[in-house]
Amino acid sequence: MANRVRFFDTTLRDGEQAPGATLTLPEKIEIARALSRLGVDVIESGFPQTSQGDFEAVRAVCAEVKGRQVAALSGYKREQIDRTWEAIKDAEAPLLHIVLSTSDIHLQGYLGISREQALELCREAVRHARRYTPYIEFSAMDAARTDLDFVCQVFAAAIAEGATVVNYPDTVGYAQPRDFGNAVAYIRDHVPGIEQAILSVHCHDDLGLATANSLAAIENGAMQVEGTVNGVGERAGNTALEEVIMALTTRKDYFQKDVSHIDTTQIARTSRLISRLTGCVVQPNKAVVGANAFAHSSGLHQAGMMRNPLTFEIMQPEMVGWGDSQIILGKTSGRHAFAEHLRKLGYHLNEGQLASAFQRFKEIADKKKEILDADLEALVEAEYRQRIQHYTLDQVQVTCGDHSIPTATVRLNAESGSQLQEAATGTGPVDAIYKAINRMVNIPNRLEEYTVQSVTEGLDAQADVRVRIEAGDQIYVGRAASTDITVASALALVDALNRVVDARSRGRAVA
Ligand code: MN
Repeated sequence: MANRVRFFDTTLRDGEQAPGATLTLPEKIEIARALSRLGVDVIESGFPQTSQGDFEAVRAVCAEVKGRQVAALSGYKREQIDRTWEAIKDAEAPLLHIVLSTSDIHLQGYLGISREQALELCREAVRHARRYTPYIEFSAMDAARTDLDFVCQVFAAAIAEGATVVNYPDTVGYAQPRDFGNAVAYIRDHVPGIEQAILSVHCHDDLGLATANSLAAIENGAMQVEGTVNGVGERAGNTALEEVIMALTTRKDYFQKDVSHIDTTQIARTSRLISRLTGCVVQPNKAVVGANAFAHSSGLHQAGMMRNPLTFEIMQPEMVGWGDSQIILGKTSGRHAFAEHLRKLGYHLNEGQLASAFQRFKEIADKKKEILDADLEALVEAEYRQRIQHYTLDQVQVTCGDHSIPTATVRLNAESGSQLQEAATGTGPVDAIYKAINRMVNIPNRLEEYTVQSVTEGLDAQADVRVRIEAGDQIYVGRAASTDITVASALALVDALNRVVDARSRGRAVA
């Protein structure tokens, strides 16, 4: 067990800090379930002190997750620790995660305190947390830019007060692999009591080195890696956990670490789910989870692959769950088969959601003869997104073509029960639809990005539309799928606008 690497996933906390990645409560729960299936050891559920919405989301994730530790981030002040504990205390296995800056840049410029004061704040914070729980993680923010001997002093103090995990983060993505590995080895050798604690790292990818730094840390004695699936997160993002998992799996000969508690076949699905729900699209050439990660295009490679896949393939696509999406359901499939298949995919819908998802399934099956897993994922996730329904699309009708002026008529149902209708012309059908919707909804916004992808192959495939809008200095992402591209476009904008209304009504603070 000494060789077992612990994975600490922070998609719901650091990942959600990615611009536009704001998640609704049902989405957070769905992600937590996916992470549980993947087998991560710790799920960080949020930052409860930042808003009532975050507090409630953390409580809900804690109630849902069994068999994994659930963490929540806290500032170092007493009232912040009290509040965080209040949010996680009912979890089966809570982990209170306290963060305090330690670098001189942060202490002087940001907190205005001395190193001695920081050391004392660390002691007080852990001591206070210890009254509630023995499961405490202490993170030294900006540790990679902190004088290493001071980091050792802080960690020794945190452990002496009862912290069970000490985390050495490269908060700003500045570290280089050899230095970072050496620093971890130094901490192992110089912190009194470190053998009783779990040494963790948390890297950012500002220089594209988060995975390399995390692996260097493991080679030098770190026992826990923090990160997110797809590497989503603040700025350039966090360590992509799937990359670390597959490096340790594929090169077990080199690292000699145990990661057998992770079900690698869940990686592709979890990646798709997180991409959809956060709106952070995975680049095609991304390691492990990119669309091209297992595509061989050169003739030479293809010829080699036909003789023996191992010629150019170090991992098999099936290992990460990249198997072909199979034809599973069609028009004649009944509700029972549909529900059974969703359960196999790992979705847990209540009766109401199931009824509504089944109706949509029938609508799609009428237009598309084969329904693949990816179609079902899009459909179910739309069901979760639908939960915020300040506005719902009732009807969209467009005329367009090369000798007509693109004109759209759109009807929306508002939460208040009223029905809104508007018509507009535009440079194209989507422009016309968006002008009509914006006139009705009256939330000033700017369309930053609009993309369409097909959910599966084939001419009858569903269109998956993703929009990014800016409203009041914040980014919001909307997403929707339909076999009709104009309908998907309208639904995606309505989804983004619903998120604006939702965020404003919850008064969500951004941390
Ligand atoms: Mn971070």
